[in-house]
Amino acid sequence: MEWWVSMPKVELHAHLNGSIRHSTLLELARALGEKGVIDFSDLEHVILKKDRSLREVFELFDLIHIITTDHMTVTRITKEVIEDFAAENVVYLELRTTPKANSSIGMSKRSYVEAVLKGLRAVSTVDVDFMSDNENSERLVNSLGPTTNHKYNVNTRKRIVVRLLLSIDRRETTEAAKETVSLALEMKHLGVVGIDLSGNPVVGEWITYLPALKYAREQGLHITLHCGEVRNSKEIRDMLNFLPQRIGHAIFLDEEDWEKLKSYNIPVEICLTSNIRTLSVPSLDVHHFVDLYNAKHPVVLCTDDTGVFSTSLSDEYRIAASTFGLGKKEMFELSKNSVEFVFADNGVKEELRSIFNSAAKSFI
Ligand code: 5GP
Repeated sequence: MEWWVSMPKVELHAHLNGSIRHSTLLELARALGEKGVIDFSDLEHVILKKDRSLREVFELFDLIHIITTDHMTVTRITKEVIEDFAAENVVYLELRTTPKANSSIGMSKRSYVEAVLKGLRAVSTVDVDFMSDNENSERLVNSLGPTTNHKYNVNTRKRIVVRLLLSIDRRETTEAAKETVSLALEMKHLGVVGIDLSGNPVVGEWITYLPALKYAREQGLHITLHCGEVRNSKEIRDMLNFLPQRIGHAIFLDEEDWEKLKSYNIPVEICLTSNIRTLSVPSLDVHHFVDLYNAKHPVVLCTDDTGVFSTSLSDEYRIAASTFGLGKKEMFELSKNSVEFVFADNGVKEELRSIFNSAAKSFI
């Protein structure tokens, strides 16, 4: 097995509906086509298209949401996404998703997240560490297999720790954003560790989400923001001054913003393939990863949307290593350092550190 696959990895920026398997998306789209809800032949090429602009990506998400937004499907895709990440040795997954309400099918934001949690519990091919209501907030390991090995070992049954972030979509009102934060607070004991702000970056205004984000922070939730995906100096500055615990992308920052980002030491979730596929960064050799990495700024390699951008976390590590001339040892250190930026509690961090320490001799 190649080192980028066997190496333990931490995924901190993965959107549920962006990470659906192609085969599942096509199967679901075909089924809706047969029912006459959508025209499958029109859609097939849209789903299979490789490069798409940021605008087209958001059009695709609207389509994906038509295909996936029912409780059973949400449960299924959650289960599959977790299995896929675990299969490539992701040992900690912070999965983010936007709670959706659709009264015509009896879906509320709460029932949407409950369907996600059901998917988490339904995983049977790997051991999943998640939080459970039944056990007074204790961590449970969903295991059907042989005894769980807490030491990292590629030959034993795989194990993955999963925590959730609830996303606020930029199309939402202040009230809707607050509803998501309240839900996250109520579901903290079930493994919801924070809030993400995402959605089409040319839509909406920072001031709309600010009250909800402030409330989230006051109540002890962690916050990550999609920041600088398009040119918008005022918003980028407002976001950095908010001091989120992490930001995603960080592309269109000007000189002053870079200095601010570095002096505030805000970790950046880097999504190489996503940035190239959406034409947000013209080529990898000019990607800001290089400057941040050389400056020893905290960075975490992530996938964004494995399904939409046809990538995997292993691929992102392979691409970074070959493009930026980094060796296995440097990539292992990068992966290991990601543990320090997870939103889970110290107990989880300790466990992850020990997984990386056990694995070190194979990669350094
Ligand atoms: P979901 O939250 O429905 O599980 O995942 C899909 C959603 O994540 C999209 O509708 C969008 O709001 C958000 N998302 C996925 N990828 C990106 C991205 O690259 N940039 C931004 N700003 N939002 C994204």
